[in-house]
Amino acid sequence: MPHLPVYMDNHATTCVDPRVVDAMLPFFSERFGNAGSVSHVFGDRAREAVDTARESIARCLGAQPREIVFTSGATESNNLAIKGMAERGRRRGNHLVSASTEHRAVLDPMDRLCRRGFEATFLTVVPGGNDRAGILDPQQVADSLRDDTILVSVMLANNEIGAIQPLAEIAEVCHRRGVPIHCDATQAVGKIPVDVSRFDIDLMSFSAHKIYGPKGVGALLVRRRSPPLRLQSQIDGGGQEGGLRSGTLNVPGIVGFARALELCLDELPNETVRLRGLRDRLNAGLHAALDGVSINGPSPALEGLRLPGNLNLSFAGVDGEALMMSMKNLAVSSGSACTAADPEPSHVLRALGLNDDLTRASLRFGLGRFNTSEEVDFAVQAVSESVKRLRKLAG
Ligand code: PMP
Repeated sequence: MPHLPVYMDNHATTCVDPRVVDAMLPFFSERFGNAGSVSHVFGDRAREAVDTARESIARCLGAQPREIVFTSGATESNNLAIKGMAERGRRRGNHLVSASTEHRAVLDPMDRLCRRGFEATFLTVVPGGNDRAGILDPQQVADSLRDDTILVSVMLANNEIGAIQPLAEIAEVCHRRGVPIHCDATQAVGKIPVDVSRFDIDLMSFSAHKIYGPKGVGALLVRRRSPPLRLQSQIDGGGQEGGLRSGTLNVPGIVGFARALELCLDELPNETVRLRGLRDRLNAGLHAALDGVSINGPSPALEGLRLPGNLNLSFAGVDGEALMMSMKNLAVSSGSACTAADPEPSHVLRALGLNDDLTRASLRFGLGRFNTSEEVDFAVQAVSESVKRLRKLAG
């Protein structure tokens, strides 16, 4: 029996790796200085730690250190990228492009801009029942671009169905029309290889707490271009981060962020194989134990279309919320935990064309670094017993 309860919600957040905690600890106590203090050694030490972390994160992603802007997380990074580009780009146009399966931290800033007179096109993805469900067609992106399009925002990996978008191709069609592209790579960084120069994207958001780092720290990568990308800061004050994001830097968080990303990259090849194995075991186990199970999102059998640790299944005839509640010792998510405040059925599953019943009958499993095959077997048993019981109750 594994240690209970079992955590399988690693898209919502991850446990901070003990090696990351160790790296952070000195920056809460003896090295507590403000990285903005230039008049003493306390500030110098904090600044050195931030510089080292910035260099490491940039190296991990194929970027330059000065291209990294630290923020409080991917929500803030997305807001800075989208609102910041729109506000400074208004003279050139007011059209934005994104996809219907994006995270709320992209869709909601876009909606707010639309209320302020911008116009947005939300592209559809390949519908469910197809091996490429959830994937965006680069040609559709090309067709959506207009002379007044000022930004395209497309995520790299989806937080609910794990779909990995063909970002290099999408970036190419954008650049052919001279349109900058922002990518929400929150679920991708540290989990699949991400090299911004290969993808050739202009702006990229990511976050520490999805990669075994601390909550409350993230970054926006802003490529140095000629002419430069112009962004309007959203938080003004002391002028930190090149004036793009004022506020005292979260030094322990930034140090932990860098360590977390280094560890992910060190372990990426082995971890990809291990997580894929666990995910396939979970998927096969549940399909063998139950009828009426369907997978949401791209086929796990197709290399590179789905995050290795992601599985999203619908259990016909069952309410996902009731199913989750009946499994006190298994932490998974129905829909997306990030929109848990909003009880509406998942907009991502709806975008695949699922009806409300199947959308409500879905569970998202997010496998991560600390999951074991024993836990997977426990999950298969817990889910299949609960589904059978709920189906019997329903009649
Ligand atoms: N984008 C995606 C794809 C996410 O999964 C999340 C977190 N659920 C966010 C943005 C928001 O990230 P943060 O929690 O760092 O604000």
